[in-house]
Amino acid sequence: VADAKSRIGVTGLAVMGANLARNIARRGTPVAVHNRTSARTREFMEAYGDEGAFTATDSLEDFVAALEKPRRILVMVKAGAPVDAVIEEISPLLDEGDIIIDGGNSHFPDTTRRTRACAERGLRFMGVGVSGGEEGALNGPSIMPGGDPAAYAEVEDIFTTIAAQVDDTPCCVHVGPDGAGHYVKMVHNGIEYADIQLIAEAYDLLTHVAGLDAPAIGKIFEEWNAGDLESYLIEITGEVLQKTDARTGGPLVDVIVDEAEQKGTGRWTSQDALELGVPLTGITEAVFARTLSSLRSERKAAAGTLAGPVPGAGEDRTDLVEDIRQALYASKVVAYAQGFAQMRAASKANDWNLDLGAMATIWRGGCIIRARFLNRIREAYAEHGDVENLLMVPYFTEAVADAQDAWRRVVATATQQGVAIPAFSSSLSYYDGYRRERGPANLIQGLRDYFGAHTYRRIDADGSFHTRWGQDG
Ligand code: NAP
Repeated sequence: VADAKSRIGVTGLAVMGANLARNIARRGTPVAVHNRTSARTREFMEAYGDEGAFTATDSLEDFVAALEKPRRILVMVKAGAPVDAVIEEISPLLDEGDIIIDGGNSHFPDTTRRTRACAERGLRFMGVGVSGGEEGALNGPSIMPGGDPAAYAEVEDIFTTIAAQVDDTPCCVHVGPDGAGHYVKMVHNGIEYADIQLIAEAYDLLTHVAGLDAPAIGKIFEEWNAGDLESYLIEITGEVLQKTDARTGGPLVDVIVDEAEQKGTGRWTSQDALELGVPLTGITEAVFARTLSSLRSERKAAAGTLAGPVPGAGEDRTDLVEDIRQALYASKVVAYAQGFAQMRAASKANDWNLDLGAMATIWRGGCIIRARFLNRIREAYAEHGDVENLLMVPYFTEAVADAQDAWRRVVATATQQGVAIPAFSSSLSYYDGYRRERGPANLIQGLRDYFGAHTYRRIDADGSFHTRWGQDG
């Protein structure tokens, strides 16, 4: 137990808090640790106490007393009510200017609310997105800090030191005020949903249309990871598909139940897109695909009742695998274009002044969606500034133009063969809708005016018009 005061305290020593505390201490910063249940603190000290200058504390009073001022308190407890509970308990023990940092997956409106409530008590609150799971927390996460810039300045050195580093640049940058950090983390997780759904659709097509088994598909993902698709998720897909089940001797994925769970960040991203009025089809279809997957008993009944083609019949195109790769890449471009357009809209709506190129930069390492691709997005913003949609940046315009024939073939084949590809096909529809100068919404406006006198605008005159549709003249 160190005598000197600690520079930072971590309360909540489950996997994320414990690993962040270890990461901070290993890099030479003294850390006070605390957990509601003291047994967990003791276990932590027994396992890792010799890794750095830790001060173990049993009570919140001792925890607060162990910290230098302004106190920096990293809260790593379960998201939701526990965060409010910790703030309520610890606030009376703190002094003006002390900093409470919520590093969990909190919903951004909660972070904005907590920031205001803490400010009324003279405390500084930061909502910090941390990505990379337990491994990232220990060895270098991507960190998305939101809150008062002056408060961030008090912890910047600690965070940038523990973050993943790519090309000597830390994957940590101040995102914006109040809920901005947790917002960006939320969209990161939403994009992760879209990436994973696209991978699952490619796997489905390679299984049921190309007729390949899991290890063979794993090898294909391994090859794809050497090209434009290079990313953590593509890499681990190769490994997951090639894993053998000890019990059956067959591929492990083949015995995993096909129901996807979710914790809510994807849903929050889609809900916010609806609130903002931003078309976010990729992430939203990924959320719905998970909910459809969870209707397992309904699907079982429907499988024996609802008619449709049996996939795999009559598909002998040798270029199918390459087509699927290109369809995956084009759909991924759309999913990221949508996610970044959403962050842009949220930045304007909330006055956050988000630097979208910086977000791509801090997602290049440490986090689940880390990928070579993010360098392209970083370059796009560096070269073209505040673009409305990444599809309009020449690199992405050309990438999708090159891939689109394959993309259309894959969507057509899947549709003909009865394989569900909600993210591939909705991304293509978004692309085709976005590049249409004149779409069919003129008719929607006509109908709305007919049944509800909602009025419409004309292409050849200013103002709002209403027509008595059912009558002559
Ligand atoms: P967790 O399972 O979400 O939470 C467990 C911790 O919360 C324990 O320390 C527990 O204390 C504490 N806790 C729960 N209710 C409390 C209360 N009312 N008052 C005080 N403490 C309370 O832990 P985690 O998986 O390490 O995640 C921590 C945060 O990081 C979450 O917001 C999570 O969503 C986020 N996150 C997790 C991952 C991941 O890969 N796991 C990745 C990124 C972000 P006791 O020991 O006393 O029960």
